[in-house]
Amino acid sequence: MPGRRPPHRVCQRRGAGARWPVSMQLDIPAGDFAGYIFDLDGTLVDTMPLHYRAWDEAMRKVGLSCPLDEDLFYSLGGVPTRRVAELIAAHYGLTIDPHAVFDHKESLFLALQKDAKLIEPVVAIARRVAQTHPVAIASGGPRDIVRRMLEISGLAPLFKVVISADDVEHGKPAPDMFLLAAQQMGVPPAKCLVFEDAEPGMRAAAAAGMPWVQVPSRRRASAARVRT
Ligand SMILES: [Mg+2]
Repeated sequence: MPGRRPPHRVCQRRGAGARWPVSMQLDIPAGDFAGYIFDLDGTLVDTMPLHYRAWDEAMRKVGLSCPLDEDLFYSLGGVPTRRVAELIAAHYGLTIDPHAVFDHKESLFLALQKDAKLIEPVVAIARRVAQTHPVAIASGGPRDIVRRMLEISGLAPLFKVVISADDVEHGKPAPDMFLLAAQQMGVPPAKCLVFEDAEPGMRAAAAAGMPWVQVPSRRRASAARVRT
C-alpha cells in the first residue's frame, strides 16, 4: 500500500502467562499522527475465543443445533452485539428475540471476561503513544462490558476517551465510532491512526478517512459471509 513503511515486527518475550505469538507483524503506515484509536476485542485483549464460546452457547439455547460457524463469527468482528445476534439468527434461519439473546450472551461473557489475556505487542504500542498523544478506545461492545474489560485488564487508566456501541446510532462498519473518538480527542480524523483486527472495523476506519493498522487475528474468516 502506498505510504506504508515496511512491515514492522514487534517482538514479545515469552514469559509466564504470555499466550500471544512471540512476534507479530504490524504494517504501520508512515505519517505524523496526532491521535491513536484502538479497537478492544481482538486488538488489545484476546477476547474473541471467549466471545465465540458465549455466542455458541447463547444461540444453542434459542435453537441452533450445530456448532456456531467460526468463520461466520469472526467475519462479524466489531459489529455491535445486538446486530450480531440478528445476523447470526438470519444466517441460520432462526427466529429470535435479539434483546433476550443479547442479554444471555453478555451474561455468559461476563463470566468468561476474567480469563482474557492482553495482546502484549499492541498494548505496548498503546502505552508508548499514550505518553505523548491522545488515545481512545472504539469498541462495538456495550458500554458496561467495555468498561469492565478495561478495568479487569488494567488498561482503564490509559484511555480517557472510550466509545462503545451505546454512544453512536450506527456501529462499525459505519465510521461513527471513530469520528466520535476523534472529536472527543480533539484530533482531525485524517490525523488519527486506527488499530483494528476485524474487517468491519477496518471498513469503518476507511469510511472515517483514517489510516489503519491490521492486527492479525488468531483466525481470519476466509471471506465475509454475511452483509453487515
Ligand atoms: Mg475487534
